Amino acid sequence: MISAPNITPVVSFKDVTKSYGKVAALKEINLQVDDGEFLTVLGPTGSGKSTLLGMIVGSVLPSEGVIRLEGRDITRLDSVRCNVGAICQRDSLLAHRTVAENVAYPLQCRGAHKDQMRRQVISILALLDLVIDMDRYPSEISRDQTQRVLVARALVAQPSILLMDEPLAELEKAHRNALQDEIKRIQRALRVPTIYATHDRAEALQMSDRIVVISDGRIVADGTPRDLYERPPNLWCAQFLGTANILTVRERQRQGLEERVICDGGLQFIFDAADGLPDTDEEASVMIRPERCHLAALTSRSNAVTATVMHVRYLGGRQRVTVQLESGGSVIADVPGHWRPPEIGSAVLCSWDSGAARLVKTNSEAKA
Ligand code: ADP
Ligand code: MG
Repeated sequence: MISAPNITPVVSFKDVTKSYGKVAALKEINLQVDDGEFLTVLGPTGSGKSTLLGMIVGSVLPSEGVIRLEGRDITRLDSVRCNVGAICQRDSLLAHRTVAENVAYPLQCRGAHKDQMRRQVISILALLDLVIDMDRYPSEISRDQTQRVLVARALVAQPSILLMDEPLAELEKAHRNALQDEIKRIQRALRVPTIYATHDRAEALQMSDRIVVISDGRIVADGTPRDLYERPPNLWCAQFLGTANILTVRERQRQGLEERVICDGGLQFIFDAADGLPDTDEEASVMIRPERCHLAALTSRSNAVTATVMHVRYLGGRQRVTVQLESGGSVIADVPGHWRPPEIGSAVLCSWDSGAARLVKTNSEAKA
C-alpha cells in the first residue's frame, strides 16, 4: 500500500476563536500554511488580521481552538517563540542602536556567538542592500529603508515562518511597489513560509501564492489570486477584490448539465452546472468584471444589448465607462484609453466575453 507523504503544515489553526469581552474578533478559524508558501490574509480594517498574526507571534491568547507551529501545540505557550520572525503593525527600530545592531538584536537575545552573529547580520544586510547603511542610526535612514531593516531583523535568525502585518501601509506608492517586489524576491530566494496581512487588494493579488480573505473575523474565501479575482465564491469577496458588475438573479433553471440563469431585464446566462455553482437553494448573483465587458458603436453587428453612456472615467491606459442598460440596471465596462471618449448620453452596444460571467453566492457566510 502506498501511503500519502506525511507533510506537516508549518502553521495550522483548528477551530480557533478569539473574543475580547463581547467583541468576537475571530470566529472558527481553520487554516493551514504549507512550507515555502506566501499566504496573504486580506481584509478591511478591524476584520481580525492582526489578531490572527498575534496568536502565532504569541502576543494574543486564543479563546478556543488549537494552533500548531511545525506540529507543536503552541496554543497556550507564552514563552518567546524563537522560530517566528515578525514585523508587527507600526513596528519600529530601537533608536539608540545602529542598523546593524538592530538587525543583530534577535541573535543577541539568543546568545549567538559574536563571529557567527556578524556573519549572519552581514549576509542578511547584503540581501536587502543595506550594508552601506549598517552604521547609521534609525533617525538617519529613510522610511522605506526602515522597513527594509525591519525585514532584515525578522529574517536574520532564519525563522521557520515570517509574519508581516501591513509592513508597507505607510509608504508612498513608488517605495511601496519597489519593496513589494523586493520582499517577494527575498521570500522566494529563502523559501521561508510567510503570512502577510494587508487591506490592500492590489498588494495581495500581486504578492501572494494564496490569499485568505477575512471579513468580520471569518474566513470567507481561500484560493490563488487568479481564482479569487476571476471566480470569487461570494458577492462580498467579488466586490472586495475589484470592481464588479452585479446583476440580480430572477430565476435559476437546472437543465441537465447546464443552468440557465435569468437576470433582471431578461438577460440570460448559461453556466456549466459542474463548475462549482452555488447550491440551488442559495441566493446568487451574476458577476462580470469591467475589463470583460465591451462597448461598440450602435452600427456594429454584435450580439449585445443596447445601453446609454452615463459616465466616463479616464484612467490612462483605459477608460472606465458606466452605461445604463435599456433592460434596466447599469454596467461598468473598460475601453482602451486611446479611444475617443464615448459621449455622455450616446447609445452604444454592450457585450461581454462568453464565459466571463460568474454565478456567485450572495451571502458570504458559510451555510449552517
Ligand atoms: P485588523 O488587524 O484586521 O484591523 P484587528 O485584529 O486589529 O483587525 O481587530 C479585530 C477586532 O478586534 C476589531 O473589532 C478590534 O477593535 C478588536 N480588538 C483588537 N484588539 C483588541 C484589544 N486588545 N482589545 C479589545 N478589542 C480588540
Ligand atoms: Mg491590523
